Amino acid sequence: MSILPQPLADTLHRIAATLLPGSCLLCGGDSHAAVLCAACVADLPPLPAAGCPQCGEATTHGERCGACLKDPPAFQGTLALFRYEFPVDRLIQALKYGHQLALAAWFGERLAGIVTAADHDLLLPLPLHPDRLRERGFNQSAEIARAVSRHTGIPLALASLVRTRPTPPQAALPLKERTGNVRGAFECRADLAGQRVALVDDVMTSGATLRECARVLKLHGTAAITVAVVARALRQ
Ligand SMILES: [Zn+2]
Ligand SMILES: [Zn+2]
Repeated sequence: MSILPQPLADTLHRIAATLLPGSCLLCGGDSHAAVLCAACVADLPPLPAAGCPQCGEATTHGERCGACLKDPPAFQGTLALFRYEFPVDRLIQALKYGHQLALAAWFGERLAGIVTAADHDLLLPLPLHPDRLRERGFNQSAEIARAVSRHTGIPLALASLVRTRPTPPQAALPLKERTGNVRGAFECRADLAGQRVALVDDVMTSGATLRECARVLKLHGTAAITVAVVARALRQ
């Protein structure tokens, strides 16, 4: 237990993490040159034991969720590492807005443990609109996918799926408006006939954006689509 008031302790940890390579991004402790220390990794929020086989939403006995029964997405399954809550949310923010690109490599290496080369022919990161890409300087999903590709050998296609219409961030909208917000925002510029594609993103929240991308990819002939995300936000 720290003797410092929490906000001050947090600030000092953040400063320590910036100054000392080899210190954990979350606790500031010695991480042996890794992004996070073993204790913080062990504490990251796991996914529930039972979830919808298609979208990963928590369900009582691992049965398909209501949303997938009512309107099945074009993807067959969802692979995710963590539940999207504290402190995974902070790590994703540190990657996107704090430019902590080492986290993309770290997330990607872990995703590579569940996205297998035997089941996937191609990795497609969720694209950013070119305006957003210029603003941020990088696409976090592409950086995560790059690391997955490095560790699995699955080829990465960076230009096949593009975002042609800028859309307000999904998080700023009520759930029921999210499907309409992203409808028609993506274009596929590759023939994906027979390809088994893993669609890579940082977070899956409502799933509306990934559903729309998968819909477009299916129109281009994919044999199968799996969603691969670092974190899954759950409704409960
Ligand atoms: Zn730590
Ligand atoms: Zn589902």
